[in-house]
Amino acid sequence: MSEEMIPIDLEDLMHFNCNSENQCFNECCRDLNQALTPYDVLRLKKNLGIPSQSFLRTYTSLHYGPESGLPVVEFKPNPDSGHECPFVTPKGCSVYDDRPASCRMYPLARAIARSRETGEIAQYFALIEEPHCKGFEHKSNQKVREWLKGQNIEKHNRENDRLMELISLKNQILPGKLEGVLSDKFYLALYDLDEFKEQIVNNNLLYEFNIPEKIKESIKKDDETLLNLGLSWVKYMLFGIKMTFGEQEDGD
Ligand code: SF4
Ligand code: SF4
Repeated sequence: MSEEMIPIDLEDLMHFNCNSENQCFNECCRDLNQALTPYDVLRLKKNLGIPSQSFLRTYTSLHYGPESGLPVVEFKPNPDSGHECPFVTPKGCSVYDDRPASCRMYPLARAIARSRETGEIAQYFALIEEPHCKGFEHKSNQKVREWLKGQNIEKHNRENDRLMELISLKNQILPGKLEGVLSDKFYLALYDLDEFKEQIVNNNLLYEFNIPEKIKESIKKDDETLLNLGLSWVKYMLFGIKMTFGEQEDGD
């Protein structure tokens, strides 16, 4: 599928409208090659009301990123429908409120760069114009910034930027494929959250870090605190960065 990437600014107009009247409705959900972030998995398994292990086994497959060498989780191709998303229905997305960040962002692509001096993140955007997508035939007075707000994506971006930071560190400090126990722990702590919780609460995983009681109680009911802990543990394992038990930010 040929596509064009056009750089665009937050203050530019977003001449785009996706709706069920478009003849291309659902087309973008039928040819997926879509990686899922840990926060995407957290939201989707919660939406479906199933444990992380069932979600991962049923809906995803695993490979290794060619550049990062890290495990990458993506939607599993459906033998009956090829690359169609398992959640697309004739009426649209069945997990709309918890759809992944890349679905919210489409047809925009977002890249970030973190300042070494201040730690601040700069965002860059581009429009992905694909021939099948008829959403570009609409005119609009809405700016990119306003369109993004309607996608409710800020929380996803904040969470996913932490993964991006981890990937960037991995590329700098530990190039090559992550294998064996380290790879298993990465997958456990970031994607298989319910099993990670089980290991901490009932099998004393992480006992040597003296996790504060407040955090221990919190992870029993709050997957975002659990994911934060997982990210911190992975940074400790891979790069020797001291474990932190920071408070979870509020979000949508
Ligand atoms: S192809 Fe474009 S306009 Fe059509 S449903 Fe997908 S995003 Fe919307
Ligand atoms: S999760 Fe929803 S929006 Fe994303 S590809 Fe699947 S059906 Fe489409």
